[in-house]
Amino acid sequence: MSSTDFDIITIGGGLGGASLAKVMAEHGAQVLVLESETTFKDRVRGEAMVSWGVNEAKELGIYSNLRDAGGWDVEFLEVSLEAGKPVRRQLRSTTNPSEPRFNFYHPDIQESLLQAASDAGAVIQRGARVRHLRLGDSHVVVATVAGVEKEFTARLVVGADGRYSRARGWGGFQVSENPESTFCAGLLFQGMTAPDDTTHNFRIFEKSLNALLFPQRSGMVRAYLCYPMAWGEQLSADKDIRRFINWSVEAGTPKGYFEGAVPAGPLASFKSASTWVEHPYRDGVALIGDAAGATDPMWGQGLSLTLRDVRVLRDHLLGEWDWAKSGHAYAEEHDRYFTVCNTVQAWHERLLVETGQEANALRARVFQLWQLDPTRRLDTFASGPDHLIDESVRRRFFGEDW
Ligand SMILES: Cc1cc2nc3c(=O)[nH]c(=O)nc-3n(C[C@H](O)[C@H](O)[C@H](O)COP(=O)(O)OP(=O)(O)OC[C@H]3O[C@@H](n4cnc5c(N)ncnc54)[C@H](O)[C@@H]3O)c2cc1C
Repeated sequence: MSSTDFDIITIGGGLGGASLAKVMAEHGAQVLVLESETTFKDRVRGEAMVSWGVNEAKELGIYSNLRDAGGWDVEFLEVSLEAGKPVRRQLRSTTNPSEPRFNFYHPDIQESLLQAASDAGAVIQRGARVRHLRLGDSHVVVATVAGVEKEFTARLVVGADGRYSRARGWGGFQVSENPESTFCAGLLFQGMTAPDDTTHNFRIFEKSLNALLFPQRSGMVRAYLCYPMAWGEQLSADKDIRRFINWSVEAGTPKGYFEGAVPAGPLASFKSASTWVEHPYRDGVALIGDAAGATDPMWGQGLSLTLRDVRVLRDHLLGEWDWAKSGHAYAEEHDRYFTVCNTVQAWHERLLVETGQEANALRARVFQLWQLDPTRRLDTFASGPDHLIDESVRRRFFGEDW
Protein backbone atom coordinates (compact mmCIF):
# COMPACT_ATOMS: atom_id res chain seq x y z
CA MET A 1 0.00 0.00 0.00
CA SER A 2 1.43 3.40 -0.93
CA SER A 3 1.17 6.22 1.58
CA THR A 4 -1.94 7.54 -0.17
CA ASP A 5 -3.78 4.22 -0.36
CA PHE A 6 -6.47 3.61 2.28
CA ASP A 7 -9.26 1.20 3.18
CA ILE A 8 -11.64 4.08 3.81
CA ILE A 9 -11.56 7.79 3.03
CA THR A 10 -14.17 10.01 4.64
CA ILE A 11 -14.98 13.26 2.88
CA GLY A 12 -15.65 15.46 5.91
CA GLY A 13 -14.62 15.20 9.54
CA GLY A 14 -17.81 16.25 11.29
CA LEU A 15 -19.70 14.08 13.76
CA GLY A 16 -20.27 11.43 11.08
CA GLY A 17 -16.86 11.30 9.41
CA ALA A 18 -14.82 11.57 12.62
CA SER A 19 -16.88 8.96 14.49
CA LEU A 20 -16.65 6.47 11.63
CA ALA A 21 -12.89 7.05 11.35
CA LYS A 22 -12.44 6.41 15.06
CA VAL A 23 -14.48 3.22 15.24
CA MET A 24 -13.05 1.72 12.04
CA ALA A 25 -9.43 2.62 12.92
CA GLU A 26 -9.96 0.92 16.27
CA HIS A 27 -10.65 -2.26 14.30
CA GLY A 28 -7.46 -1.95 12.27
CA ALA A 29 -8.79 -0.21 9.12
CA GLN A 30 -6.51 2.31 7.39
CA VAL A 31 -8.67 5.43 7.43
CA LEU A 32 -8.06 8.89 6.02
CA VAL A 33 -10.27 11.84 7.01
CA LEU A 34 -10.24 14.81 4.62
CA GLU A 35 -11.67 17.84 6.44
CA SER A 36 -11.72 21.28 4.87
CA GLU A 37 -11.70 23.32 8.10
CA THR A 38 -8.45 23.94 9.96
CA THR A 39 -10.32 25.20 13.03
CA PHE A 40 -13.98 24.58 13.76
CA LYS A 41 -16.23 27.54 14.32
CA ASP A 42 -19.91 27.94 15.19
CA ARG A 43 -21.86 26.95 12.03
CA VAL A 44 -25.17 26.82 13.96
CA ARG A 45 -25.40 23.04 13.96
CA GLY A 46 -26.97 20.49 16.30
CA GLU A 47 -25.98 20.69 19.95
CA ALA A 48 -28.82 18.80 21.60
CA MET A 49 -28.83 15.03 21.28
CA VAL A 50 -32.09 13.26 22.05
CA SER A 51 -32.24 10.19 24.30
CA TRP A 52 -31.98 7.52 21.59
CA GLY A 53 -28.88 9.24 20.17
CA VAL A 54 -27.20 9.10 23.57
CA ASN A 55 -27.65 5.36 23.43
CA GLU A 56 -26.09 5.30 19.93
CA ALA A 57 -23.09 7.28 21.24
CA LYS A 58 -22.62 4.74 24.02
CA GLU A 59 -22.91 1.81 21.60
CA LEU A 60 -20.24 3.39 19.40
CA GLY A 61 -17.87 4.06 22.29
CA ILE A 62 -17.72 7.81 21.67
CA TYR A 63 -19.88 8.91 24.60
CA SER A 64 -16.87 9.60 26.86
CA ASN A 65 -15.30 11.74 24.08
CA LEU A 66 -18.47 13.82 23.89
CA ARG A 67 -18.58 14.15 27.66
CA ASP A 68 -14.89 15.10 27.85
CA ALA A 69 -15.64 17.81 25.28
CA GLY A 70 -18.12 19.42 27.69
CA GLY A 71 -21.27 17.39 26.99
CA TRP A 72 -23.77 17.21 29.80
CA ASP A 73 -27.15 15.76 30.71
CA VAL A 74 -30.38 17.72 30.41
CA GLU A 75 -32.98 15.83 32.40
CA PHE A 76 -36.22 17.65 31.58
CA LEU A 77 -38.24 18.74 28.57
CA GLU A 78 -40.91 21.41 28.98
CA VAL A 79 -43.41 22.04 26.21
CA SER A 80 -45.62 25.10 26.32
CA LEU A 81 -48.39 25.39 23.70
CA GLU A 82 -50.28 28.62 23.07
CA ALA A 83 -48.43 30.32 25.99
CA GLY A 84 -50.19 27.84 28.32
CA LYS A 85 -48.88 26.05 31.39
CA PRO A 86 -45.82 24.01 30.38
CA VAL A 87 -46.00 20.23 30.41
CA ARG A 88 -42.84 18.92 32.07
CA ARG A 89 -41.35 15.53 31.24
CA GLN A 90 -38.46 13.78 32.93
CA LEU A 91 -36.64 12.09 30.06
CA ARG A 92 -34.56 9.47 31.84
CA SER A 93 -37.64 7.79 33.32
CA THR A 94 -39.89 8.12 30.26
CA THR A 95 -37.74 7.20 27.26
CA ASN A 96 -36.65 3.90 25.83
CA PRO A 97 -33.64 3.72 26.23
CA SER A 98 -33.74 5.40 29.65
CA GLU A 99 -31.52 8.38 28.89
CA PRO A 100 -31.73 12.15 29.35
CA ARG A 101 -30.89 14.54 26.52
CA PHE A 102 -27.25 15.44 26.06
CA ASN A 103 -26.09 18.92 25.05
CA PHE A 104 -22.69 20.23 23.93
CA TYR A 105 -20.98 22.91 21.90
CA HIS A 106 -20.66 21.52 18.35
CA PRO A 107 -17.17 22.82 17.44
CA ASP A 108 -15.77 21.26 20.65
CA ILE A 109 -17.13 17.80 19.90
CA GLN A 110 -15.81 17.97 16.32
CA GLU A 111 -12.30 18.69 17.68
CA SER A 112 -12.57 16.00 20.31
CA LEU A 113 -13.77 13.28 17.90
CA LEU A 114 -11.11 14.06 15.30
CA GLN A 115 -8.48 13.81 18.04
CA ALA A 116 -9.98 10.48 19.13
CA ALA A 117 -9.90 9.23 15.53
CA SER A 118 -6.25 10.26 15.28
CA ASP A 119 -5.45 8.53 18.60
CA ALA A 120 -7.08 5.37 17.21
CA GLY A 121 -4.72 5.47 14.20
CA ALA A 122 -6.71 7.31 11.53
CA VAL A 123 -4.84 9.85 9.38
CA ILE A 124 -6.44 13.28 9.69
CA GLN A 125 -5.81 15.84 6.97
CA ARG A 126 -7.13 19.28 7.95
CA GLY A 127 -7.44 22.11 5.45
CA ALA A 128 -8.13 19.49 2.79
CA ARG A 129 -11.05 20.43 0.54
CA VAL A 130 -12.23 17.56 -1.63
CA ARG A 131 -12.86 18.73 -5.20
CA HIS A 132 -13.66 15.60 -7.10
CA LEU A 133 -14.04 11.85 -7.05
CA ARG A 134 -12.95 9.46 -9.83
CA LEU A 135 -14.72 6.15 -9.54
CA GLY A 136 -12.88 2.99 -10.55
CA ASP A 137 -11.57 -0.30 -9.10
CA SER A 138 -9.89 1.82 -6.46
CA HIS A 139 -11.55 5.20 -6.06
CA VAL A 140 -9.47 8.36 -6.42
CA VAL A 141 -10.34 11.30 -4.19
CA VAL A 142 -8.94 14.61 -5.42
CA ALA A 143 -8.42 17.29 -2.77
CA THR A 144 -6.70 20.64 -2.45
CA VAL A 145 -4.43 20.58 0.58
CA ALA A 146 -2.69 23.87 1.47
CA GLY A 147 -3.15 25.06 -2.11
CA VAL A 148 -1.73 21.88 -3.65
CA GLU A 149 -3.86 19.33 -5.50
CA LYS A 150 -3.41 15.79 -4.13
CA GLU A 151 -4.89 12.40 -4.94
CA PHE A 152 -5.74 9.66 -2.48
CA THR A 153 -7.11 6.20 -3.23
CA ALA A 154 -9.39 3.96 -1.21
CA ARG A 155 -11.49 0.83 -1.33
CA LEU A 156 -14.49 2.66 0.17
CA VAL A 157 -15.23 6.37 0.01
CA VAL A 158 -17.64 7.74 2.60
CA GLY A 159 -19.43 11.00 1.86
CA ALA A 160 -19.79 12.63 5.29
CA ASP A 161 -19.81 16.20 4.02
CA GLY A 162 -23.06 17.43 5.52
CA ARG A 163 -26.40 18.82 4.36
CA TYR A 164 -24.98 20.52 1.26
CA SER A 165 -22.97 17.43 0.30
CA ARG A 166 -21.19 17.48 -3.03
CA ALA A 167 -20.15 13.84 -2.59
CA ARG A 168 -23.74 12.95 -3.50
CA GLY A 169 -23.28 14.44 -6.96
CA TRP A 170 -19.80 12.94 -7.45
CA GLY A 171 -21.16 9.50 -6.46
CA GLY A 172 -24.10 9.78 -8.87
CA PHE A 173 -26.84 9.85 -6.19
CA GLN A 174 -30.21 11.54 -6.70
CA VAL A 175 -31.39 13.84 -3.91
CA SER A 176 -35.05 13.93 -2.80
CA GLU A 177 -36.52 16.87 -0.90
CA ASN A 178 -39.73 17.56 1.03
CA PRO A 179 -41.61 20.75 0.18
CA GLU A 180 -40.17 23.71 2.09
CA SER A 181 -42.35 25.73 4.44
CA THR A 182 -40.24 26.80 7.42
CA PHE A 183 -36.99 28.57 8.26
CA CYS A 184 -35.07 27.47 11.32
CA ALA A 185 -32.84 30.21 12.81
CA GLY A 186 -30.28 29.60 15.53
CA LEU A 187 -28.16 31.75 17.83
CA LEU A 188 -25.98 31.02 20.89
CA PHE A 189 -26.51 33.33 23.90
CA GLN A 190 -24.50 33.81 27.03
CA GLY A 191 -25.90 35.18 30.28
CA MET A 192 -29.36 33.75 29.71
CA THR A 193 -31.41 33.04 32.83
CA ALA A 194 -33.22 29.92 31.49
CA PRO A 195 -32.77 26.89 33.79
CA ASP A 196 -29.79 24.64 33.07
CA ASP A 197 -31.59 21.32 33.49
CA THR A 198 -34.46 21.83 31.02
CA THR A 199 -34.97 21.97 27.26
CA HIS A 200 -37.81 24.41 26.50
CA ASN A 201 -40.18 24.35 23.55
CA PHE A 202 -42.70 27.18 23.06
CA ARG A 203 -45.26 27.02 20.27
CA ILE A 204 -47.99 29.37 19.00
CA PHE A 205 -50.19 27.69 16.39
CA GLU A 206 -51.83 30.73 14.85
CA LYS A 207 -48.50 32.15 13.69
CA SER A 208 -46.79 28.79 13.27
CA LEU A 209 -43.98 29.98 15.55
CA ASN A 210 -41.80 27.54 17.47
CA ALA A 211 -38.99 28.57 19.84
CA LEU A 212 -36.55 26.15 21.44
CA LEU A 213 -33.94 26.64 24.17
CA PHE A 214 -31.09 24.18 24.67
CA PRO A 215 -29.03 25.02 27.77
CA GLN A 216 -25.28 24.47 27.71
CA ARG A 217 -24.52 25.31 31.36
CA SER A 218 -23.47 28.53 33.07
CA GLY A 219 -25.93 30.74 31.20
CA MET A 220 -24.91 29.56 27.72
CA VAL A 221 -28.05 28.63 25.76
CA ARG A 222 -28.51 27.67 22.12
CA ALA A 223 -31.78 29.25 21.01
CA TYR A 224 -33.69 28.27 17.85
CA LEU A 225 -36.70 29.84 16.23
CA CYS A 226 -38.74 28.17 13.49
CA TYR A 227 -41.06 30.45 11.51
CA PRO A 228 -42.91 30.39 8.17
CA MET A 229 -40.90 30.91 5.00
CA ALA A 230 -43.95 32.75 3.68
CA TRP A 231 -42.87 35.71 5.84
CA GLY A 232 -40.09 36.15 3.30
CA GLU A 233 -37.41 36.88 5.93
CA GLN A 234 -34.30 34.73 6.30
CA LEU A 235 -32.93 35.99 9.63
CA SER A 236 -29.15 36.37 9.65
CA ALA A 237 -26.35 38.43 11.19
CA ASP A 238 -26.50 41.10 13.90
CA LYS A 239 -29.10 43.23 12.11
CA ASP A 240 -31.79 40.57 12.73
CA ILE A 241 -31.03 39.66 16.37
CA ARG A 242 -33.69 42.01 17.78
CA ARG A 243 -36.32 40.38 15.52
CA PHE A 244 -35.11 36.91 16.52
CA ILE A 245 -35.67 37.81 20.19
CA ASN A 246 -39.05 39.51 19.58
CA TRP A 247 -40.41 36.56 17.60
CA SER A 248 -39.08 34.12 20.23
CA VAL A 249 -41.00 36.08 22.88
CA GLU A 250 -44.10 36.02 20.63
CA ALA A 251 -43.74 32.23 20.52
CA GLY A 252 -43.96 32.19 24.33
CA THR A 253 -40.33 32.42 25.53
CA PRO A 254 -40.36 34.45 28.78
CA LYS A 255 -39.00 37.93 27.99
CA GLY A 256 -36.96 37.82 31.19
CA TYR A 257 -34.79 34.98 29.84
CA PHE A 258 -33.29 37.41 27.31
CA GLU A 259 -32.65 40.25 29.77
CA GLY A 260 -28.91 40.53 30.22
CA ALA A 261 -28.30 37.85 27.56
CA VAL A 262 -25.79 38.64 24.81
CA PRO A 263 -25.14 36.81 21.53
CA ALA A 264 -22.12 34.53 21.65
CA GLY A 265 -22.08 33.44 18.00
CA PRO A 266 -23.56 34.20 14.60
CA LEU A 267 -27.28 34.26 13.79
CA ALA A 268 -28.05 32.03 10.80
CA SER A 269 -31.19 30.44 9.39
CA PHE A 270 -31.74 27.39 7.26
CA LYS A 271 -34.48 26.00 5.07
CA SER A 272 -35.72 23.19 7.18
CA ALA A 273 -37.17 20.76 4.63
CA SER A 274 -35.78 17.21 4.76
CA THR A 275 -33.36 16.16 2.03
CA TRP A 276 -32.30 12.56 1.50
CA VAL A 277 -30.92 9.96 -0.84
CA GLU A 278 -32.70 6.65 -1.45
CA HIS A 279 -30.31 3.78 -0.82
CA PRO A 280 -27.16 5.75 0.15
CA TYR A 281 -24.62 3.26 -1.21
CA ARG A 282 -23.47 2.60 -4.77
CA ASP A 283 -20.27 1.51 -6.49
CA GLY A 284 -17.97 1.83 -3.49
CA VAL A 285 -19.38 5.13 -2.20
CA ALA A 286 -21.47 5.28 0.99
CA LEU A 287 -23.16 8.41 2.33
CA ILE A 288 -23.66 8.97 6.05
CA GLY A 289 -25.09 11.68 8.30
CA ASP A 290 -26.70 14.72 6.71
CA ALA A 291 -25.27 13.77 3.31
CA ALA A 292 -27.42 10.62 3.37
CA GLY A 293 -30.45 12.25 4.94
CA ALA A 294 -31.08 15.50 6.80
CA THR A 295 -34.39 15.94 8.62
CA ASP A 296 -35.91 19.25 9.66
CA PRO A 297 -33.73 20.53 12.56
CA MET A 298 -36.90 21.46 14.48
CA TRP A 299 -37.34 17.80 15.47
CA GLY A 300 -33.74 17.38 16.66
CA GLN A 301 -32.97 14.04 14.99
CA GLY A 302 -29.84 14.82 12.94
CA LEU A 303 -27.11 14.00 15.46
CA SER A 304 -28.80 10.76 16.47
CA LEU A 305 -29.44 9.66 12.89
CA THR A 306 -25.80 10.39 12.05
CA LEU A 307 -24.61 8.14 14.86
CA ARG A 308 -27.08 5.43 13.84
CA ASP A 309 -25.59 5.58 10.32
CA VAL A 310 -22.07 5.20 11.70
CA ARG A 311 -23.02 2.24 13.90
CA VAL A 312 -24.94 0.41 11.17
CA LEU A 313 -22.24 0.97 8.55
CA ARG A 314 -19.51 -0.07 11.00
CA ASP A 315 -21.32 -3.28 11.91
CA HIS A 316 -21.83 -4.27 8.27
CA LEU A 317 -18.22 -3.44 7.31
CA LEU A 318 -16.85 -5.48 10.20
CA GLY A 319 -19.18 -8.39 9.58
CA GLU A 320 -18.56 -8.92 5.87
CA TRP A 321 -15.39 -9.04 3.76
CA ASP A 322 -17.26 -8.03 0.60
CA TRP A 323 -17.81 -4.32 1.30
CA ALA A 324 -20.22 -3.92 -1.62
CA LYS A 325 -22.56 -6.27 0.26
CA SER A 326 -21.93 -4.30 3.48
CA GLY A 327 -22.71 -1.03 1.72
CA HIS A 328 -26.00 -2.31 0.30
CA ALA A 329 -27.02 -3.81 3.67
CA TYR A 330 -26.31 -0.45 5.36
CA ALA A 331 -28.30 1.42 2.71
CA GLU A 332 -31.32 -0.85 3.13
CA GLU A 333 -31.37 -0.28 6.87
CA HIS A 334 -30.89 3.45 6.36
CA ASP A 335 -33.92 3.62 4.10
CA ARG A 336 -36.05 1.98 6.80
CA TYR A 337 -35.15 4.13 9.83
CA PHE A 338 -34.84 7.38 7.86
CA THR A 339 -38.29 6.80 6.36
CA VAL A 340 -39.75 6.32 9.85
CA CYS A 341 -38.23 9.64 11.04
CA ASN A 342 -39.22 11.51 7.91
CA THR A 343 -42.79 10.18 7.93
CA VAL A 344 -43.37 10.85 11.63
CA GLN A 345 -41.94 14.33 11.07
CA ALA A 346 -44.45 14.94 8.26
CA TRP A 347 -47.32 13.78 10.51
CA HIS A 348 -46.20 16.17 13.27
CA GLU A 349 -45.89 19.00 10.77
CA ARG A 350 -49.46 18.47 9.62
CA LEU A 351 -50.61 18.46 13.23
CA LEU A 352 -48.47 21.20 14.78
CA VAL A 353 -47.22 23.51 12.03
CA GLU A 354 -50.25 24.00 9.77
CA THR A 355 -52.49 27.00 10.45
CA GLY A 356 -56.19 27.70 9.90
CA GLN A 357 -59.53 26.41 11.15
CA GLU A 358 -59.15 22.90 9.80
CA ALA A 359 -55.76 22.55 11.49
CA ASN A 360 -57.18 23.89 14.77
CA ALA A 361 -60.04 21.40 14.66
CA LEU A 362 -57.65 18.53 13.94
CA ARG A 363 -55.45 19.55 16.92
CA ALA A 364 -58.42 19.82 19.29
CA ARG A 365 -59.63 16.33 18.35
CA VAL A 366 -56.23 14.64 18.33
CA PHE A 367 -55.01 16.15 21.62
CA GLN A 368 -58.18 14.99 23.35
CA LEU A 369 -57.75 11.46 22.05
CA TRP A 370 -54.08 11.43 23.02
CA GLN A 371 -55.04 12.37 26.56
CA LEU A 372 -57.45 9.45 26.74
CA ASP A 373 -54.90 7.07 25.22
CA PRO A 374 -51.26 8.29 25.26
CA THR A 375 -50.14 5.26 23.19
CA ARG A 376 -51.66 6.99 20.15
CA ARG A 377 -48.86 9.52 20.03
CA LEU A 378 -45.47 8.36 18.82
CA ASP A 379 -42.30 8.88 20.83
CA THR A 380 -40.00 8.56 17.79
CA PHE A 381 -38.21 11.88 18.36
CA ALA A 382 -37.13 10.93 21.91
CA SER A 383 -37.05 7.13 21.82
CA GLY A 384 -36.04 6.43 18.23
CA PRO A 385 -37.27 5.14 14.87
CA ASP A 386 -37.44 1.42 15.72
CA HIS A 387 -41.15 0.99 15.32
CA LEU A 388 -43.66 0.34 12.59
CA ILE A 389 -45.36 3.05 10.60
CA ASP A 390 -48.24 1.69 8.61
CA GLU A 391 -51.73 2.87 7.82
CA SER A 392 -53.15 1.66 11.14
CA VAL A 393 -50.45 3.56 13.09
CA ARG A 394 -51.17 6.68 11.04
CA ARG A 395 -54.93 6.40 11.63
CA ARG A 396 -54.41 5.96 15.39
CA PHE A 397 -52.02 8.96 15.45
CA PHE A 398 -54.62 11.23 13.81
CA GLY A 399 -57.57 9.61 15.61
CA GLU A 400 -59.17 8.56 12.34
CA ASP A 401 -60.11 5.17 13.81
CA TRP A 402 -62.30 6.78 16.48
C1 LIG B 1 -29.95 25.01 12.47
C2 LIG B 1 -29.68 23.56 12.78
C3 LIG B 1 -30.01 23.08 14.03
C4 LIG B 1 -29.81 21.74 14.33
N1 LIG B 1 -30.17 21.29 15.57
C5 LIG B 1 -30.05 19.98 15.85
C6 LIG B 1 -30.38 19.49 17.16
O1 LIG B 1 -30.78 20.23 18.05
N2 LIG B 1 -30.25 18.16 17.40
C7 LIG B 1 -29.81 17.30 16.43
O2 LIG B 1 -29.75 16.10 16.68
N3 LIG B 1 -29.42 17.74 15.22
C8 LIG B 1 -29.53 19.06 14.89
N4 LIG B 1 -29.11 19.52 13.67
C9 LIG B 1 -28.54 18.56 12.70
C10 LIG B 1 -27.06 18.22 13.01
O3 LIG B 1 -26.31 19.39 13.13
C11 LIG B 1 -26.53 17.37 11.85
O4 LIG B 1 -27.40 16.28 11.67
C12 LIG B 1 -25.12 16.84 12.12
O5 LIG B 1 -24.23 17.90 12.38
C13 LIG B 1 -24.66 16.06 10.87
O6 LIG B 1 -23.32 15.70 10.99
P1 LIG B 1 -22.47 15.36 9.69
O7 LIG B 1 -21.15 14.88 10.18
O8 LIG B 1 -23.27 14.52 8.78
O9 LIG B 1 -22.32 16.77 8.92
P2 LIG B 1 -21.60 18.11 9.35
O10 LIG B 1 -21.69 18.34 10.82
O11 LIG B 1 -22.14 19.18 8.45
O12 LIG B 1 -20.07 17.86 8.99
C14 LIG B 1 -19.62 17.86 7.65
C15 LIG B 1 -18.14 18.15 7.65
O13 LIG B 1 -17.66 18.00 6.31
C16 LIG B 1 -16.76 19.05 5.99
N5 LIG B 1 -16.79 19.22 4.54
C17 LIG B 1 -17.83 19.61 3.77
N6 LIG B 1 -17.49 19.59 2.47
C18 LIG B 1 -16.19 19.18 2.41
C19 LIG B 1 -15.27 18.97 1.35
N7 LIG B 1 -15.62 19.17 0.06
N8 LIG B 1 -14.02 18.56 1.65
C20 LIG B 1 -13.66 18.33 2.93
N9 LIG B 1 -14.49 18.53 3.98
C21 LIG B 1 -15.74 18.94 3.73
C22 LIG B 1 -17.32 20.25 6.78
O14 LIG B 1 -16.31 21.21 7.02
C23 LIG B 1 -17.80 19.58 8.07
O15 LIG B 1 -16.81 19.55 9.07
C24 LIG B 1 -29.27 20.87 13.35
C25 LIG B 1 -28.93 21.37 12.08
C26 LIG B 1 -29.13 22.70 11.79
C27 LIG B 1 -28.76 23.22 10.43
